Amino acid sequence: VSDDPTVFEKIIAGELPARVVHETETTMAFLDANPLAPGHTLVVSKEPYERLRDAPPEIAADVFAVVRELAPVVEDAVGAAGTTVAVNDGAAAGQEVPHLHVHVVPRSSGDGGGPVHAAFQGPVDLPEERLDEIAAAITDRT
Ligand code: 5GP
Repeated sequence: VSDDPTVFEKIIAGELPARVVHETETTMAFLDANPLAPGHTLVVSKEPYERLRDAPPEIAADVFAVVRELAPVVEDAVGAAGTTVAVNDGAAAGQEVPHLHVHVVPRSSGDGGGPVHAAFQGPVDLPEERLDEIAAAITDRT
């Protein structure tokens, strides 16, 4: 939990206006102020956990349950055909507001956007041994 109040904390506290579309005891969802598409919605934890790893599992589950509930609702509300669900988890991943949030961005064919893969140069070439090491490093930690 970070020290300075984030813009999302101010929205949650009612100190900044937002178009709130859904609220639970632990989460809030509101329209993004700079929508990438009509209906672009942010689902946030009410507590200002900075990153996914900082949130208790039950809070992360609450956030993703709301994403599951809202994605089709938002899609239908704006007449979209799909949704990009994304978390910029950490500054290195492009996170600008250090307060856990999931982007729900309605998509339509021909909207000019791309898949999440478009955020990268392309696949990295990793030798089999490195892939084995990575898989082992992950399984050892879970
Ligand atoms: P990030 O880059 O941290 O994943 O995304 C932060 C998002 O928060 C951006 O899409 C940005 O438009 C949105 N945002 C930043 N400030 C405000 C605000 O004051 N109100 C709302 N509704 N959205 C905001």
